[in-house]
Amino acid sequence: LTFDQIGFYLALRGLTGAPVEVLIGGWVAKMAAAAIFSVLTGVYLAVFEKEPLSHEAKRLRDVFDVLTYRQRYEALLASAGRDGLTGLLDRGRFETEAPRRVKQALSSGRPISVVMLDVDHFKSINDRFGHTAGDEALRALARGLDAAVREDDLLFRFGGEEFVMLCEGLKHEDAVRFAERLRKLAKATDAGPDIELKLSIGLATGPTDGGDLPTLLACADQRLYRAKKAGRDRVVGQRDVPPAAMTANPALA
Ligand code: GH3
Ligand code: MG
Ligand code: MG
Repeated sequence: LTFDQIGFYLALRGLTGAPVEVLIGGWVAKMAAAAIFSVLTGVYLAVFEKEPLSHEAKRLRDVFDVLTYRQRYEALLASAGRDGLTGLLDRGRFETEAPRRVKQALSSGRPISVVMLDVDHFKSINDRFGHTAGDEALRALARGLDAAVREDDLLFRFGGEEFVMLCEGLKHEDAVRFAERLRKLAKATDAGPDIELKLSIGLATGPTDGGDLPTLLACADQRLYRAKKAGRDRVVGQRDVPPAAMTANPALA
């Protein structure tokens, strides 16, 4: 600022013969403006940038970056953690958001249902129709599932053809009805010519099935496995398909 001011003053002096007071007055005014700008910037950062974003975000706290790149940065944040094929929340987001959501629900005394879905015999769909058609079928299913969940539910693409939903406030009986609806929805999905999608679904509801995410997830996973064992295309929750009945009937194994 000072060099800039001296240059400006020399040019002005050459043109108009301005006295040295003009240089001093201009310099003082510029420094005062810089001081005011610094105070306002400090207030802006303290008031609007208080919330800790991510670790990476902190580097952007330099005010010029914040002002210049904010929009692009927010767009990047929105797309981060989304699965490339379906656009659903990805496994990374599951790891960071799901434990918090379960804790939040259970500590406020609300039930939370974990719905674990796996497409039946999806490998054979790929084998018969090709991977591109398989991709398209997964996209169509994801769109259907996404439209079926409530606004507050979380829907993740958990793995290849596996999806997980977290439904806060959904009691187990209601989760069973909801899962049945999803199973029918999958069958009705326009997944491509001659492709019919069937789902096996395992359900677990906290706090009755567990008080944290790993326990609920393991429980839902075990019930999903039982749904597969019992013949696929079905929902298994707390009351369905006791393990003894499965092992007693070799046809189900
Ligand atoms: P099950 O009824 O026991 O679940 O049988 P499955 O064939 O669905 O299960 P398996 O785990 O043997 O195979 C899953 C298949 O899903 C294999 C894999 O190629 C396919 N798959 C996973 N992710 C994708 C994907 O993004 N696109 C396509 N086209 N296929 C995928
Ligand atoms: Mg699978
Ligand atoms: Mg499968």
